[in-house]
This record gives sequence, structure tokens and C-alpha cells, in this order.
Amino acid sequence: MSTEVALRLSGNFIGGEWLPAASGRTFENRSPADADDLVGVFPESGLEDVEAAVAAARKAYPRWRDTPAPRRAEILYAAGAILTRDKEELARLMTREMGKVLAEARGDVQEAIDMAFLAAGEGRRLFGYTTPSELPNKFAMCVRQPIGVSALVTPWNFPMAIPAWKSMAALIAGNTIVIKPATDTPASVVALARVFEEAGLPPGVFNVVIGSGGEVGDPLVTHDDVKVVSFTGSTDVGRRISAACAPTFKRLHLEMGGKNAILILDDADVDLAVEGAVWGAFGTTGQRCTASSRLLVHEEVVGEFTDKLVARARTLQVGNGLEPGIDVGPLVSERQRETVARYVEIGKREGATLLCGGEKLAAGDLSRGFFFAPTVFGDATPDMRISREEIFGPVTTVIPVESFEEGIRIANSVEYGLSGSVYTRDVDRAFRAMREFETGIFYVNSSTIGAEVHLPFGGIKNTGNGHREAGIAGIEVFTEWKSIYVDFSGRLQRAQIDTHESAE
Ligand code: NAP
Ligand code: MG
Repeated sequence: MSTEVALRLSGNFIGGEWLPAASGRTFENRSPADADDLVGVFPESGLEDVEAAVAAARKAYPRWRDTPAPRRAEILYAAGAILTRDKEELARLMTREMGKVLAEARGDVQEAIDMAFLAAGEGRRLFGYTTPSELPNKFAMCVRQPIGVSALVTPWNFPMAIPAWKSMAALIAGNTIVIKPATDTPASVVALARVFEEAGLPPGVFNVVIGSGGEVGDPLVTHDDVKVVSFTGSTDVGRRISAACAPTFKRLHLEMGGKNAILILDDADVDLAVEGAVWGAFGTTGQRCTASSRLLVHEEVVGEFTDKLVARARTLQVGNGLEPGIDVGPLVSERQRETVARYVEIGKREGATLLCGGEKLAAGDLSRGFFFAPTVFGDATPDMRISREEIFGPVTTVIPVESFEEGIRIANSVEYGLSGSVYTRDVDRAFRAMREFETGIFYVNSSTIGAEVHLPFGGIKNTGNGHREAGIAGIEVFTEWKSIYVDFSGRLQRAQIDTHESAE
């Protein structure tokens, strides 16, 4: 069965079975580039489905927890191999459901492959440590233990990479999962479930429930049997989930919005900075949490930089990401496009100069999707809403700055703290920027996007709550430390007391 046909028939994945929603309701998902392209029909689930999935994950947990981690790793290696085999097909599916251009969709699948192999490698590490005891004939060590049923709630902008980051870290550590994908992009998570199924993951270890944030997400994250919640999405929803989880002190990992700045100094390689800004601002149609939505440019070079940026932005080809030569795909939904159009109006009203773009594109085939022209605002000030709020579309804002210090001050003046970057040839200022930027991710002479899976990913301030995804840090979210002391002295030894008793 081809993936396409399988998707049309697939439902929730609960306890190893593909099931319709208990209500029997379904919804259609169509390509944001082409309303005639039906990507799939998916279950519109609710509380009953959540209950069934959590019960399945709970039932599968003891056995999965007790499966040796190197054996769990073998399944992840197999998943990585299947993802590699099916990379092209999965990327095409993703471009159809989400809109990002094919090269970027391949990158999204590649992140899942990289994460599969990274997590699998951890199956033979998952290191705790041993350490000397302060008392004789006593052994001290600490180990990591899985936590239990993990609820994953994911956004639509990285339909496979983000579900893979979360699930593979949780799985290698011995947790079981219920995932609720974004309503706009369930197909990539259905595909990921099929990969795990083929790789031999036991029934109930990875469960998928498709439906809305209110009907599925909310009952899932507040479920008593869910012990960990990992959420990526907007700061508004993250705040609501944080409040909902607080009464039970549930382990909660939040990755939320961004308003990322590139600081371009007077000694920067301007052409290199323009390339970085174009990629960071318009890659994924600006729908990245790490998008370069603020360009803080030293006044010495702001004229040259802005002219070159606008010239490049005008050359970008907008269209269906399945076609060759397309640089920028559609927004994910009409709602997202409306938000972008609204922010363009706000920017104009606030007095920023619209230098290019600023409008929906609907000529010819573009009328079938949610396209918007790559947009640059110039002469913006840091207090404008377009300089402070996450737009999540192909819009970037040039803010002139007088000095390095002013650039840092403006970069840090927003509520978010995800990614940042500096372009300079001065090593002293590069190192000062590395220290001063209030972000979880930072780049030198490169754009604000481009994270690699073996490093921690996440942000500070209103972007995160102190956890990280990916890397080894991602496993922290899904494990608890247990400290173990073994006394083989055959007598009562009192820590802190006997240790310091002076030898008579
Ligand atoms: P969103 O609206 O917050 O949705 C994220 C997920 O939460 C979706 O699965 C959504 O379901 C679900 N949800 C909505 N309301 C919920 C509720 N009350 N309880 C539980 N779950 C609920 O975000 P989005 O529009 O999909 O994604 C864009 C946002 O994600 C941006 O703010 C972006 O910065 C952020 N993001 C952050 C990172 C990062 O790592 N920091 C990475 C990517 C994206 P529905 O789809 O059904 O609404
Ligand atoms: Mg859609």
C-alpha cells in the first residue's frame, strides 16, 4: 500500500491498532499550496480516544521500561534506516501537508533520521555516574530512570523533526508516548508511527491521537496518568498548559515563541549577512520559531545592507514547494496568512517603511494556496509591534542601530529568548555578543536558524521553561535521577556525623 492510500485510510494509532475516532468524525487536510490536493482524511478525536491511548501507553510502560536500553536502541536504529529509505516520499508528503519547499522538507526528515541515530547511540550510554562515598565501605552512584507515560503536543512548522526529537528521546529512556500532532499536519506523525510500527516497536509504546488542541490536547496534558508533558508551540498555549499542569507538579517541558535578531556590525561581510538574513527570514516562509525577524544593522552599513536585502528578496520565487526552483512556499493556512497581512498593516500604521512585498499573491496557480510576498520593512524602531511580536510569516524588519551596545540592548528588549546571531570580523565583539545575547542558541557569522540535533535546542525568557530538546539535554526531560547508596560495612554509618568524628 502506498503511503498516500494508507494515509487516507489511517486513523489514530492506539495500542498498535489503527482506529477511527470514537465519535466516528473525520476532517480533511488539504495542501496549503493547492486546495485541490487532498492530503488525507483524519479522525477528529476527543476525550474517549485520549483515554484509550493513555491506557494503552500505561499498559505498555512496565515492559518497555524493563527492556534493556540497547535493545530499545536497536528499534530506533531500524526506525532511522526506514526513515532513510523513505526520505523522499516522506519529504513530498510533508511539502504537500505543510507547504515548505521540498529541499527543506528533506531537511526536516533528515533531522528525524539524525535524531534516531543519536538517540539509538544513547541506548549504550544513558550515563549516570559513580562517585566515592564520604564513608568507608560504602558505594555511591546515580542512575537515570524513565518517568512513565509522556504526552507530546507538537506544532505544524516542523511536522516530523519536532515529533522525532521528543519521541526518540522519550523512547530511548524507556517512556511510553501519546502524541497529539498539530491539526494542520497530522500526516507526518502518522507516517512516523508507521515507521515505528515497521521497526518493531511494541504495541502501545507509541500512540497517536489526532484532533484539536481543546478536544485532545487539553484532556491529554491534564490526564492523571500522564507523567511528563513536552509541548512546542505558541507562548499563549504554553502558558495555559503550564497553569493546567501546575497543580499536579507534572514534569513539563515548554518550547515556545521567538523574535530572533541578527546584529550586523559595521565591520561585517555585508554580502554574507544578506545571504544569512534572506535564509533566516524567508526560509520555511518565515514560519520558524528561530526565524530572523529582526535585523539590527549598524548605521554605517544599513543603507548598503538594506538595498542588497531588498534586491535579493525580490528575486525569491514563491510557489508550490513541490516544483523545482521555488524558494518560498505558502503559509500553512489562510488564518496564518491573515495574521501576516494584519501585521503588515500594523507596520505601515506604525510608520515603518514597506520596502518590498506586503501583499498576498494570487495570480494564476497561486490562487489555489495561501501565498504571500517576501516582505521587508525598513526604518523600524524597537518599540513598534512588528519589532516585538512574533509574526510567523515571510516578514522581516530592519532596525538601524548606532553601536554594538545599542544593538545588544535592542536584541534583548523583547519577551522572547530563543536564537540570535552576530555578523562581525572582530573576535572581541563576537565573544562579547556570545555572552550578552539573552538566548538559548547563538550563531556567529551565520543566520539564526540551522540547529543540529546533537546540541541542546531551546530558549530562555518567555520562550522556554528551563528545559531543552535534542542533544543529550533532551533526554533530561524524560528521566528522573535516582541516587543509590550501598553500605557494605556491616554497621550503621552516619553521613556527615561519622565522617567528621575525630579519630581518637
Ligand atoms: P499552537 O497554536 O500553540 O499549537 C501548538 C500545539 O498545541 C498544536 O498541536 C495545537 O493543536 C496544540 N494546542 C492548542 N491549544 C491547546 C490546548 N489548550 N491544550 C493543549 N494543546 C493545545 O502553535 P502553532 O501555531 O501550531 O505553532 C506556531 C508556534 O510554535 C509559534 O509560536 C512558534 O514560535 C512555536 N514554535 C516554537 C518552537 C521552539 O522550539 N521554541 C519550535 C517550533 C514552533 P491544534 O493544532 O489543534 O491547534
Ligand atoms: Mg492543511
